[in-house]
Amino acid sequence: MNKFEQLLSESKTILLDGAMGTMLMSKGMEAGQAPEKMNLDHPEIVQEIHRAYIEAGSNVILTNTFGANRFRLMRHKLDDRVREINQTAARLARQVADEFPNVIVAGSMGPTGELMAPLGKLSFEDAVQAFAEQAAGLSSGGVDVIWIETMADLQEVKAAVQGTRSVTRLPIVVTMTFESRGRTMMGVTPEQLVRLAGELELSAVGANCGKGPQELEAVIERMHKAGCQIPIIAKANAGIPKLIEGKVIYDGSPEIMAEHARVVNQSGATLIGACCGSSPDHIREMRRALFLDL
Ligand SMILES: [Zn+2]
Repeated sequence: MNKFEQLLSESKTILLDGAMGTMLMSKGMEAGQAPEKMNLDHPEIVQEIHRAYIEAGSNVILTNTFGANRFRLMRHKLDDRVREINQTAARLARQVADEFPNVIVAGSMGPTGELMAPLGKLSFEDAVQAFAEQAAGLSSGGVDVIWIETMADLQEVKAAVQGTRSVTRLPIVVTMTFESRGRTMMGVTPEQLVRLAGELELSAVGANCGKGPQELEAVIERMHKAGCQIPIIAKANAGIPKLIEGKVIYDGSPEIMAEHARVVNQSGATLIGACCGSSPDHIREMRRALFLDL
């Protein structure tokens, strides 16, 4: 059995990791740089972050490949290195995960950043190919599951799943980002995502990033009430981003995120972590809140 599916079948609640980008910046990555380039230039920093999350209690770590598709890498003139970057990032995470018992490596795939046709220029076929290329790199580097996240468009989700399935039989999970009033930027509702998750036979589905823990709690409740048949993922930002003196600050303390973890867990989410603005300190508190006996 696949390691991720095994973990799903054995555990009632699974703790995910927190932000990668926020941590890379706190460790000196320059603004405007491709975070994925850190896999090549500073593998020791990426591995240090993975290790910190596992030591804080994460059972699943996400590779540093959120923007490692050819469209986003093109902006940094790295689009000829998609496979290398994804494979390297997957190996870095795998190495750290294997220092510990039962830690799962999830291959992160974010959106292309392009608008899909007919609204934009990106054709469905080109999107499928870009995701296939990324998933192939991640899979060759040894991930246990493909983790499609921060999506806004159902068509792009379909393209990412189709691309992944064309190159690997790894399980797939999808999380979308819901903005105010519980819709994604492209208008998708939690109920629509639940329906699609069933059709696509995903292993888990949920929400990440967005407008802070409270908005995400409402989304999780709706997914649960919509009769979601598969495990639900909650990965909220650590509070709400505020621009203070030109810097983005998140106002969610580890204690706030710990309480949030309990709330989403009661609403039916069983895979729980955090997104932008979070750190291993948040994950440690969330672990305490979720597993009182530890
Ligand atoms: Zn985020």
